[in-house]
Parts: sequence; structure tokens; C-alpha cells
Amino acid sequence: MLQWREHLLRTPVLYQPRTLEEARKLKRELGAKAVYAAGGTLLRTLWENGTAALPEALIDLRGVAGLSGIRHEDGHLYIGALTELSVCRSRGEIAMASPALREAARGIAAPSVRNLATIGGNITCGNGDVLPALLVAEAELAVSGPDSNPWVPMAAWLADRWSSTYDPETIVAGVRLPAASARNELGGRRFEVYRKVGRREAFTPSLVTAALAGTIGEDGVLRSVRIAAGGGSSRPHRLERAEALLEGRRFSAELMSSLSEAVHEEYAPSGDAFATGAYKSKTAANLIAAELWRLLHPREDSPEQPV
Ligand SMILES: Cc1cc2nc3c(=O)[nH]c(=O)nc-3n(C[C@H](O)[C@H](O)[C@H](O)COP(=O)(O)OP(=O)(O)OC[C@H]3O[C@@H](n4cnc5c(N)ncnc54)[C@H](O)[C@@H]3O)c2cc1C
Repeated sequence: MLQWREHLLRTPVLYQPRTLEEARKLKRELGAKAVYAAGGTLLRTLWENGTAALPEALIDLRGVAGLSGIRHEDGHLYIGALTELSVCRSRGEIAMASPALREAARGIAAPSVRNLATIGGNITCGNGDVLPALLVAEAELAVSGPDSNPWVPMAAWLADRWSSTYDPETIVAGVRLPAASARNELGGRRFEVYRKVGRREAFTPSLVTAALAGTIGEDGVLRSVRIAAGGGSSRPHRLERAEALLEGRRFSAELMSSLSEAVHEEYAPSGDAFATGAYKSKTAANLIAAELWRLLHPREDSPEQPV
């Protein structure tokens, strides 16, 4: 017991680079001996539960220029990687651009953790709870520089992140979302929702997370539907077959039933100590079908109306 905690008594060397180039150079030179650190909240958990050893060096990203700030540019809302989850939860422009991201941030950990934890750290770990929200919000990432061109679509970046060729020097500089004004031009009733199921009601790691976005025309037809699921240690991803099933369709009981089956088939996470893969898949199917039902049958007293 004491043996695996011994490493926690060591103090890693702390590097505080000022530029992305400097940070990447340090990582290149130090290799696996060093890890990037932002809020440190996930890293701390990994060290404390023995999932990862305390490294010899930490490369603190918090002083790196260009990783902070929230701003409108080119029809998008840009959120720097160092933006804390508490800020993602409270800033009106983020809620306007992506209600799902706001809701995802709201459900992560407790306020004390959210005040330190960054959106960049949540994205970079590859299975953070914000990822399904960013997938349906059509987010794009600036990787290794705020001016990286082209912007990398979230789904493409995630595929790379989970591949064996992922470059460990990669720094996520920020994320951008289509601004609310750009989305509203498309017409129809826009919706974007996010749901998390954990092991208890609040302050819990996720078992399943699901996000859903699109528009409902005045004729009741669903368009541009985007669905994503994730949760726990599973890789979040878009459910493209389920999306295609809904495209151009109106509500019917048969459609809901086919949707539930399609999600169950397409989302196949692994089980863990707390829930089987089948339970997670069924939960995702139920969450998504229930959310769509609610959106297509809005009640005036419903706490959340489509955006
Ligand atoms: C009590 C508690 C509860 C939690 N509950 C949840 C939860 O419900 N849902 C959830 O998703 N998470 C949860 N977490 C995990 C964690 O808080 C979040 O994932 C958080 O967003 C991580 O951000 P951070 O800035 O602290 O990342 P860090 O811990 O600093 O880093 C996390 C990883 O990302 C890398 N990294 C960080 N920033 C960058 C960057 N810009 N570019 C490249 N690499 C980077 C680091 O090297 C490290 O591998 C919880 C943590 C705690 C302690």
C-alpha cells in the first residue's frame, strides 16, 4: 500500500514555458519523463489512485501565451484551452453558442475542482465529459497554436487522439464553436441538449454521456441532426447511422423505436467495474430517445426549452 504511494513524496521538476514552441521543445527533449499540466485535477487523480506514476517533470502550460481568453472571431466563439470549466458553465456567450457544452461543464465534479480544471485538459484526456457536447456542437480545435490552419474538426482530432500515432508533443490551444448568430440564420427551432448518467445523482464520474443537436422545422421535420455518446473511459463518438435515420423525418412512435435500436447497435462501449457495456449502450439509447421525445413534445412548464 505504502509502496505505490512512495512516488507521491517526490517533487517533480517544474518547467514554466512562456510560448508554445518552448513548451513543445521541452516535451520533445524530456519525452516520457515529462507531462503537460494545466489545472492538474485529472493528473492528481491519476497519481493518487496509482493509474499513473508521478513524472520526473511537469510542463506547466498556464503561463503559455495564446492559450487563454474567450473571443468572437470570424463567425465563431473561440475558447482558449486554459479556460476553466467554471467559466464554461457561467459565461453567457458559451451557453448561447453551445447549451450542451454549458450543461456538460455544469455536471463535472464540484465547484472547487471546476475552478481549476480546464476545458483543454478535459478534451485532451480523450474521454472527458465535454467531448460529446463538442462533437454535436461542430467544434474545431486549434492544435499546438491558436492560429493553426486548418482548424481540426473535433471528430478527426479525437480519432487521432485515440490512434497509436498520436504525437505526445501535441498541445490543444483552444476550441472554436460556430457563434449563436451564425446558427440562428439557418431557421427552424434549433436544439442542443446534453445528458449525463453517473453512479449517483451529483458529483459523480460519468457512466454514460449523450448529446443531441439539430433543428426542427415548422413542418416538424428534423434536419442536421447530430448525436454523440461517451462516458467513463469510453471513446466518445458521433452516431452517424442513428443521425441518418432521423434526417428529414417527422416524429412517429416507430421512428423513436428504430432510433433506440440504432443507438443500441451503434454505441458499443466496454464494460467496467460499475456497469456492463450492454447497460451503457441501452442507457445511451434511452437517453437519446427520451430527449428527442421531449424536444418534439415541448411542455410549457419544461425546465429546458429548445434554444
Ligand atoms: C474530484 C474530481 C472529479 C472529477 N469529475 C469529473 C467528471 O465528472 N467528468 C470529467 O470529464 N472529468 C472529471 N474529473 C477530471 C478532471 O477534473 C477534468 O477532466 C478536467 O477538465 C481536466 O482538466 P485539467 O486542466 O485539470 O487537466 P490536467 O489534469 O492538468 O491534465 C489532464 C491531461 O491533459 C493534458 N493536458 C492538459 N491541458 C492540455 C493542453 N492544453 N494540451 C495538451 N495536453 C493537455 C495533461 O498532460 C494530462 O494528460 C474529475 C476530477 C476530480 C479531481
